[in-house]
Amino acid sequence: PIKTRFAPSPTGLIHLGNARTALLSALGGDTFVLRIEDTDGERCRREFVDELIADLHWLGLEWQEGPQSAEPDPHWFQSQRGSIYKDYYRALEEKGLAYPCFCTPVELEVSRKVQLSAGRPPRYSGKCAHLSVDEIRRKRDQGLSPTLRFRVPKNQAVEFEDEVRGPQRFASDDIGDFIIRRADGTPAFFFCNAIDDALMGITRVLRGEDHLANTPRQLMILAALDLPRPRYAHISLIVGDDGAPLSKRNGSRSINQLREEGYFPEAVVNMLARLGHPYDSESLLGVAELRAGFDVNRLGRSPARFDVSHLDHWQGLAVRRAADDTLWTWLHAETRAVVPEAHRADFLDIVRSNCLFPRQADAWAKVLFTDELELEADIAAVAQSAGEAFYLAAIDAATESPDDFAAFLAGLKRRSGAKGKHLFLPLRAALTGSLDGPELAKIYQLMDKPRLHRRLAEFTY
Ligand code: GLU
Repeated sequence: PIKTRFAPSPTGLIHLGNARTALLSALGGDTFVLRIEDTDGERCRREFVDELIADLHWLGLEWQEGPQSAEPDPHWFQSQRGSIYKDYYRALEEKGLAYPCFCTPVELEVSRKVQLSAGRPPRYSGKCAHLSVDEIRRKRDQGLSPTLRFRVPKNQAVEFEDEVRGPQRFASDDIGDFIIRRADGTPAFFFCNAIDDALMGITRVLRGEDHLANTPRQLMILAALDLPRPRYAHISLIVGDDGAPLSKRNGSRSINQLREEGYFPEAVVNMLARLGHPYDSESLLGVAELRAGFDVNRLGRSPARFDVSHLDHWQGLAVRRAADDTLWTWLHAETRAVVPEAHRADFLDIVRSNCLFPRQADAWAKVLFTDELELEADIAAVAQSAGEAFYLAAIDAATESPDDFAAFLAGLKRRSGAKGKHLFLPLRAALTGSLDGPELAKIYQLMDKPRLHRRLAEFTY
């Protein structure tokens, strides 16, 4: 069985990019773990954890291990796992595979600049790599708090087979000794992320390709501690329609925003699952079905392009498929308040075939069930083009056949001589303030007849 995890740092709301990582991680394994990487005390906030958990629930991604599961919550928060990491730091120090580093940020910055100006990639110089026990003691006695650095083995090839990107090979000599514990005692990402994957039994890590270059460091830590390594699948990033990484600027939105706009989770999940991964079925699939069709080898290597029209396509399918109760509660309260009980089911049918979002339903509810209707100048012109006699004829026809649209239409044709778009467009414009929308038969059926008469009478001067 494959065990995957999603390991977010709660430093903000989840956007499409990390939601996709969460989803693919949930689809890519038999057991799914949620782990909170909250070791950066300044940037991580509890409310982001709560929001994140709510977003994952909303998306329908359920974890078998993680917060709110059998094991008590602290187990899944890295900020609470300090005593576990301590043993591994000690083991590395005892093996001489980690050492305290007293270099100050200013010293490190200077050394970095020197290397860059010499045209070399900046790497830690190794200044503290060989301090004697006495030197270390003296510095500690001066009250200096060191970071802890991992001693990168010399002249080694670090190799692994990435499940998406194929064989990978890094030379250890290109990697400087790196920090695994900060001066304030908190664990650095490379370290706790790798240790926890091993301790939690993770067998497959699905994460963004921005982490690809971190992997050799993590593999060296695991090897140094004789811990098992997971398989890695580095997924390509999502880009916007400008080809740049998806960000707020080019269309990324938080899951929270999408929910507030009225997107259904099924729509978001289907769009994200199919971004860079083909599925044979074109229909809206549930998480279990998406999992059944998921194959890590089918994940594309090129950047996945986000296109809002795809999201809206799935949204359309989700709206059409939604049950009456779901759709009803999805509507804004103001809209529910104006839809007469007797017309609820018919109104929901209109919503299903005409709306992607609750705000569009607001507009149709207003048109059908309230007196608020303002015609834009060009729409009013279409209505007026039919002339006064047309509307007088329409009022007569409606009076004669209030409950039968076909009979009303026949009456109107007979009286006015209008047909085709010269009949339907002005009628639609006058009744709805729009040139398209629900079938006229539905509108005729649902609209209160005095209101219908008033709207027609607007064009009889
Ligand atoms: N906390 C890391 C992040 O949010 C996790 C990276 C990983 O999945 O290994 O980027």
